[in-house]
Amino acid sequence: MNTRIITIDGPAGAGKTTVSRMLSKKLGCVYVDTGALYRGVAYEIQRQGIDWENDEVLDDFLKHLDLNFLMENDRLILISSGRDITNFIRTPDISMLASASSAKPQVRAALLGIQRNIAKTKDAVFEGRDMGTVVFPDAVHKFFLFADLCIRAKRRNDEMPDETKDIKLVQEEMKIRDGKDSQRKTAPLKPAEDAIKIDSSFLTIEQVVEKMVKCIEKA
Ligand code: C5P
Repeated sequence: MNTRIITIDGPAGAGKTTVSRMLSKKLGCVYVDTGALYRGVAYEIQRQGIDWENDEVLDDFLKHLDLNFLMENDRLILISSGRDITNFIRTPDISMLASASSAKPQVRAALLGIQRNIAKTKDAVFEGRDMGTVVFPDAVHKFFLFADLCIRAKRRNDEMPDETKDIKLVQEEMKIRDGKDSQRKTAPLKPAEDAIKIDSSFLTIEQVVEKMVKCIEKA
């Protein structure tokens, strides 16, 4: 079966999630947030107290990892060994641990199959860091969405509950995570050579989606 795969890569806070959701609705296909998988790994590492920097321990942990997505209408539910962990993976701690542990090649290898399996049977918009470069190098439509760091931090901070808002801290953590994600050896965050780059700094979500739809229709 030949499926239509659209990839959207870019740094945290560039608008990938909202854009991917909206685009997938417009195109009538599913949306896959691959960051949730890396967050799921980090969540389990934290919950089980895994010494992930020890390769032997990490390999054994990954052998028993059982992560999957359940797609319910437009909600994506992350299941780990039969348990819904969707509501536990969005904390700042998990963001940092996901970024650190995702640099391990064996973590990336363990999640590759899950992502490619979804793409075998479903048209989909895949959002992540290495979708266009590593996971789906043959995707016909590839986008790289970025924005100024200050603007991304403000967007992320605005989404947070009042009591946890702290723009300086959000910006600092984002900068560290961007650095780690783009400098790691395996599958660093970077645009695929054939990706269309979109700067979302001064665009609304609707304008970004409109641009993407135009590019897709033109191709
Ligand atoms: O997209 P999100 O911010 O939820 O991703 C969390 C972390 O997971 C990122 O900072 C990145 O280190 C990692 N990630 C990745 N490759 C992907 C998606 C996410 O390395 N395709």
